[in-house]
Amino acid sequence: MKKIQMVDLKGQYESIKDTVNRSMAEVIGSTAFINGPEVHAFQKELEEYLGVKHVIPCANGTDALQIAMMGLGLEPGDEVITADFTFAATAEVIALLKLSPVLVDVEPDTFNIDPEALRKAITPRTKAIVPVHLFGQCANMDAIMQIAREHGLYVIEDNAQGIGATYTFKDGTKVKTGAIGDVSATSFFPSKNLGCYGDGGAIFTNNDDLAHIIRGVVNHGMYKRYHHDVVGVNSRLDSIQAAVLRAKLPLLDTYNQKRKEAAAKYTKAFEGEEKIVTPVLVGEEDSHVYHQYTLKVKDTDRDALGRFLNENEIPCGIYYPIPLHRQKAYVDERYKDEEFGVTNQLCEEVISLPMHTELDDEQIEYITSKVKEFINQ
Ligand SMILES: *Cc1c(COP(=O)(O)O)cnc(C)c1O
Repeated sequence: MKKIQMVDLKGQYESIKDTVNRSMAEVIGSTAFINGPEVHAFQKELEEYLGVKHVIPCANGTDALQIAMMGLGLEPGDEVITADFTFAATAEVIALLKLSPVLVDVEPDTFNIDPEALRKAITPRTKAIVPVHLFGQCANMDAIMQIAREHGLYVIEDNAQGIGATYTFKDGTKVKTGAIGDVSATSFFPSKNLGCYGDGGAIFTNNDDLAHIIRGVVNHGMYKRYHHDVVGVNSRLDSIQAAVLRAKLPLLDTYNQKRKEAAAKYTKAFEGEEKIVTPVLVGEEDSHVYHQYTLKVKDTDRDALGRFLNENEIPCGIYYPIPLHRQKAYVDERYKDEEFGVTNQLCEEVISLPMHTELDDEQIEYITSKVKEFINQ
């Protein structure tokens, strides 16, 4: 059996080596390392793929979130609501901009922001909502967009884990995640569903004015060379990363399909296991791209399961072990621990199994048999 990886970047690279090596060599030969034609071409191709008017590449997903918020002109003290159960980057940029992060609980089945909790958290100072399509499952965008419309709030999608997923609205309209809210952020970190070979990220929007503002923000606030109209940042996707992404974008749907197939095999193998809750698909087939395959384990020492898997050369991950509202950097007297019952429980029960495009049947069989062996001992 091939050695099991949490994410098998090497196996994936082997299958696209010739294309990637050739295009990286071309960039180096051209010496157009920054803002080269590859970046522009990738931007166009991604706009086409997502069905979004503007893609603005930048240096990483955290920057993308920050820049999206800077572009919206939010003011210090404005409240921005997001999920308690997410990667810290989501809340970090809110705090960094001196906005006020407001964390709310999530749904137990989708792991995504709970629309009811969200509604309750709205105050006159609320300006924006940041739904995260966690683990690749679309957040409930029907409810979120409805709440945003009712209260005049911006929606900033954190699409770092959801690229390639499609949300189907109640009226049947299908929109790719990242093209739904006012503005979105994504990451091309190597292990993401569309990953480059270093850091990378992008901001998406259908709003022409906002796109114009953001193109200046990423470039030191310049709209005309050496005229700095706003305080900006330096955040660029380099041409070598764009070349890698151009080679991988045409394969994104195939990659996501492979993840889905691996997820289906895992789920089938765990059928009938009472202590294991497998991820549920809420919405249509294409609404989940399995950035992670995350189990909830009941009546089980989750950390001991993790150790057992590691001892058997099976990597696994705990995403995420601590709710954001209990993290030192984000504790706030406004939060009452009992209002985060779902997140608190998830942090004790979740365990993510290896998930990538190169998992084979033998590996899945081995991983699931070891999980079952531990659970039923
Ligand atoms: C990865 C990730 C980010 C940050 O992306 P980077 O490129 O690592 O800065 C933000 N939000 C979520 C949900 C992520 O998974």
